Amino acid sequence: MRVTIVGGGIIGCAVGHELASRGADVRIFDMRGTGRGATQASAGILAPYIEGHIDALLQLGINSLALYDRFLARVSADAQQPVEYERSGSLHIANNDAAAMELAIAARKFAHAGVAHELMPGHDAMRLEPGLSSRMISALLLPMHGYVRAAELTSALAAAAVRCGAHMMTANVEEICGRGPGVVAVKTTAGLIESDAVILAAGCWSGRVAPMTPPVRPVRGQLLHLHFNQRPVSRVVWGSECYLVPWRNGALLVGATVEEAGFDETATAAGVTRLLEASAALLTDIPQARFEAVRVGLRPGTPDELPLIGPSSTMRGVYYATGHYRNGVLLAPLTARLVADLVIDGKRDPELDLVRPDRFGL
Ligand SMILES: Cc1cc2nc3c(=O)[nH]c(=O)nc-3n(C[C@H](O)[C@H](O)[C@H](O)COP(=O)(O)OP(=O)(O)OC[C@H]3O[C@@H](n4cnc5c(N)ncnc54)[C@H](O)[C@@H]3O)c2cc1C
Repeated sequence: MRVTIVGGGIIGCAVGHELASRGADVRIFDMRGTGRGATQASAGILAPYIEGHIDALLQLGINSLALYDRFLARVSADAQQPVEYERSGSLHIANNDAAAMELAIAARKFAHAGVAHELMPGHDAMRLEPGLSSRMISALLLPMHGYVRAAELTSALAAAAVRCGAHMMTANVEEICGRGPGVVAVKTTAGLIESDAVILAAGCWSGRVAPMTPPVRPVRGQLLHLHFNQRPVSRVVWGSECYLVPWRNGALLVGATVEEAGFDETATAAGVTRLLEASAALLTDIPQARFEAVRVGLRPGTPDELPLIGPSSTMRGVYYATGHYRNGVLLAPLTARLVADLVIDGKRDPELDLVRPDRFGL
């Protein structure tokens, strides 16, 4: 089966690897080269219970996190590249009474649902993470959470897809068109490509590929990349104004702004200032960090914050895998499995009901 994928971000590469490893003849088109969209700015946090304010998203996040160990092992083996991935846990910080109350309510819900967690006073959290500010009132530890280096994972996914026979193409896909029974084509700046299925995984640019009209909009995120000589914390830290992700080499990601700025991918002084101030309130050593970079990405946002995964109801052979908003890294393994089950085996997994594109008439 010939499959064309529009977009080589983490979603396009994860879907491409899964399809190629199941024997499909895969072409992945990206107008910039793989992993240069929202994915390069991602913090790579794997934390369904943080982002789980929507029931369906929580369910999808939990299911996808459960796939992560095997997903990472397969990708690293197929790519023959290591990928930094840790289930280090996440520590949610309350610096005022209202936030402490929210953590206590969350802890009660987790206890009721049987989710492993530990609510602790600020001085106990300081023992776990001595670098954190002593202003902490309480903290909530969720040990199953973690992070992955998203750019490293995407590069490994692309390499793994190629080793399974996929082709990576640098070109802009302008249009998707029907070409008779069972054949769909994409019009690209490198020519017309016919295939049996086309997957639209173009992130926030998905609505720019004619004639598709998914309600996906860009939501800008700025993220700081700082560096310490030693890891300043050992887990993902989540505060009310920013989060921190420590890599093994001493790098610390500080994220992230959430801005409606259209397709503008520039970093701003206001964004950097906000993140520096917020992170200094969490971690006392922030002013001593080396400043490496600001990364900016456009998250593919949807009106209900849920992705669009599944077949187009208006064009046969076309499938959506887009709109992953703040959770594309977390949801990559599940998305890849759902799309491959559908395209290769015609199997509709029950999770697809939560993300049906036809809820927007697509
Ligand atoms: C600051 C920030 C922090 C984040 N943190 C997290 C996190 O901690 N955890 C998490 O799970 N998620 C996080 N996210 C969200 C996550 O990064 C996104 O959901 C994910 O990267 C989306 O992946 P994608 O492949 O759909 O889109 P993208 O990575 O944007 O990839 C889309 C690709 O399609 C290509 N493309 C577009 N149109 C065309 C076309 N017409 N022809 C050819 N190519 C095309 C683009 O060049 C691009 O490479 C974060 C995002 C940001 C910005």
